Amino acid sequence: MLKLISRIFFAQLLLCFLSLLPACPQKPPQSLLILNAQIADGTGAPLFRANVRIAAGHIVGVGKLAPEPGEPTIDAKGLVLAPGFIDIHNHSEESLPKDLAAETQVSQGITTLIIGADGESPWPLASWFHQMQDHPAAVNVGSFAGHATIRQQVMGKDFKRIATPEEIRLMQEQMRQQMAQGALGLSSGLEYEVGSYAATDEVVALSKIAAASGGVYMTHIRDEADKSFEALEEEISIGEQAHIPVEHSHIKLGTVGVQGKAPEYIKIIKAARKRGVDFLADCYPYDAWHSNLKVVVPDKQYENPKSVLAALESYGGGSHITITEFSPNKSYAGHTLAELAKSNSLSETDMYIQLIREGDAAHTEAAIIGQSMIESDMKAFYQQPWVMVASDGGVNSQHPRGAGTFTRVLGLYVREKQWLTLPEAIHKMTSLPAQRLGWKDRGTLRKGSVADLVLFDPATVIDNSTFANPTALSTGIEKVFVNGVLVWDSGKSTGARPGTVIGRKGAVLGVRN
Ligand SMILES: [Zn+2]
Repeated sequence: MLKLISRIFFAQLLLCFLSLLPACPQKPPQSLLILNAQIADGTGAPLFRANVRIAAGHIVGVGKLAPEPGEPTIDAKGLVLAPGFIDIHNHSEESLPKDLAAETQVSQGITTLIIGADGESPWPLASWFHQMQDHPAAVNVGSFAGHATIRQQVMGKDFKRIATPEEIRLMQEQMRQQMAQGALGLSSGLEYEVGSYAATDEVVALSKIAAASGGVYMTHIRDEADKSFEALEEEISIGEQAHIPVEHSHIKLGTVGVQGKAPEYIKIIKAARKRGVDFLADCYPYDAWHSNLKVVVPDKQYENPKSVLAALESYGGGSHITITEFSPNKSYAGHTLAELAKSNSLSETDMYIQLIREGDAAHTEAAIIGQSMIESDMKAFYQQPWVMVASDGGVNSQHPRGAGTFTRVLGLYVREKQWLTLPEAIHKMTSLPAQRLGWKDRGTLRKGSVADLVLFDPATVIDNSTFANPTALSTGIEKVFVNGVLVWDSGKSTGARPGTVIGRKGAVLGVRN
């Protein structure tokens, strides 16, 4: 009997030894020591050299630490160790469950991605969360509750009007439920079809529900073109009326009429912040946006030649608009509106209208990339301490920002153009989004934090994704840890899927069995 027990014991020990399974009963939690790294701790403080120990998913020591006997080490000489990047505006709700390794995300240092932006979120949130809990990804996730999603739940197809007080009350009820399920707050997309019919009061009413349980109001504002300033004023007033922190999505000035006006835009935001509005913004590092064809014409007169002509002119003409996807006629993809007009012997206006009609007939809409932002505006925005980095992309996005946002900022705007120092840029990728979400144990590299970490080479880090090849992976990101588990190592996914679902205050939402 004793012999049998000891045999089992040794067999188990051997198994533990062979597999190094963390679940083995007698084994103490494995620690790992990262040596000689330059630390960008996320606060914006200057780089400093330290060793960092991680164990049981957390950072357990930072400083002059010596390896313990048998402790695995990584020599990070010449590399920078930072908190993992938190992408507060990510559109992977459908693509992540199909691609749990999320290589386009982890290869640029993202360890947490937040979905549910621009007014649209999975419905109900709980079922998406359950899916991600049952089948975890390599990255952590969290979500906002979308205003348009809730609006459609209540109004159905009859959404092209102001909501009644009773409908707003029903929306508030739905909002309350989404917050109870773990939403980080309310997101809106007031420039898009469903959200655009909402009056300011409706958004305020829902924001108040989000605010009551500690949520944030994150918004793609009503206009990012000629009426950008009016839309900004509305956003600030929603923040003030609902007493809610505001996250301005992908700050930009997207048409010829407002280009170059970043200093005035910033002035309005600074004044609001001074009055006490808790206003932060995010920005993606590209001068081109990705949206749908109808967004181009603000008065929604998609087949009115006058409206279309004025709209196209405001973007600098059809050569600034490239079709990326159009299911009724796939050959249009990759061509500008100007090119299509020419090859079809139509004016740009008529070509636009034809695309709208073909799309409507097939119940779809062309996806487009519009090139209309200017670098000086982007630089001015990025240099504000209240502007963070976010992608507005996601897993397998058709815009290069999906795979290249964070590495592009580090390579192009820090190393090459020197718009930002490295600690400033890291701050905008880590503790600033964590602050916006109210998360205290992520986004800063310090003892006690969750070990979401990225180790990269500051001399080589760069994006490789382009409009022609939008999913090309970045270079220079050496290792990525999520909850203390290595998910990316020397240009490859490790296959580990330690991602969790995170709610308000950084709470990890329950793992289901
Ligand atoms: Zn948006």
